[in-house]
Amino acid sequence: MTKTISPPTTDISAPAALTRRPRRLRRTEGIRALVRETVVRAEDLIYPLFVVPNERPRVEIKSMPGVYQNRVREAVDDARRASDAGIRAVLLFGLPDYKDGIGSASWDPTGPVQSAIEAIKRALPDMTVMADVCLCEYTDHGHCGVIVDHEGVKDVDNDQTLPLLAKQAISFAAAGADFVAPSDMMDGRVAAIRRALDARDMPEVGIMAYSAKFASGFYGPFREAAESTPQFGDRRSYQMDPANIREAIREMELDVEEGADMIMVKPALAYLDVIRAARERFELPVAAYNVSGEYAMVKAAAERGWIDGTRVMGEILTSIKRAGADLIITYHAVEFADACRDRL
Ligand SMILES: [Zn+2]
Repeated sequence: MTKTISPPTTDISAPAALTRRPRRLRRTEGIRALVRETVVRAEDLIYPLFVVPNERPRVEIKSMPGVYQNRVREAVDDARRASDAGIRAVLLFGLPDYKDGIGSASWDPTGPVQSAIEAIKRALPDMTVMADVCLCEYTDHGHCGVIVDHEGVKDVDNDQTLPLLAKQAISFAAAGADFVAPSDMMDGRVAAIRRALDARDMPEVGIMAYSAKFASGFYGPFREAAESTPQFGDRRSYQMDPANIREAIREMELDVEEGADMIMVKPALAYLDVIRAARERFELPVAAYNVSGEYAMVKAAAERGWIDGTRVMGEILTSIKRAGADLIITYHAVEFADACRDRL
């Protein structure tokens, strides 16, 4: 059978296949910008900062180029750089002077995090300051709670840990933190912290809960940054199994019931489906943590010339927002905000 080819026509009865041309919307950058569905703004980003005691030097973290262990004044400088780039929030992690079995340095009112909260709030009153609440940076064993020995088997005791987390949260709140962010994955910690804050007349201090925090290999570089590697065992008895999404939803439900103001999924990139499920299920703001290993992979590959780091950074942050995250905690924050501004 021979096929006749007819000349182009304006006949409106032309086959549908010829009239549907999605490429029209991709023809120029102007048109692409008009129809872009997901845009990451500087205001969506939270910039993590590591604070060390003032006696220690400022050190760049080897596996996280561009990220430093800062003394208080340098943390203020970094927060100011972030603010200048349009970032509205920072999340603080602390490395104490001393470590012990219960992480008591974490509620020292003169500790690095407390001092940095005060200094950043003084220098940048409009900056939202969040403080990570956990014991692992402050304990000599590197676990996120109190260790008990059950006939030779060591484990983290849930209920003995709760009052210590509450004590730490109170201390950060008293220093001026707008939000405390429990990352320990103990059962009942959000309720314990909420009760403690309210009992001390600090109802305005919010809780951003690390609700679905998975036991992940992507945290490797962070442990160098926060000097929080467990001295024995691992964190699988409290952080979640990477295979479980129904359990992640259950964890988020509990944190919402216990009074969390925001819920978080961590890590982000290998857990985009969990972020999507959180978005569909809950009305609260959903945060996602674009963790150290995700950052390190981009930096390492870009350094070798294997990928375009800036482009991949944009694609990753967009994917996290497209999956449903309202807020993204990321070491790329300032770099991304600067890159966006340069494009304008
Ligand atoms: Zn921890």
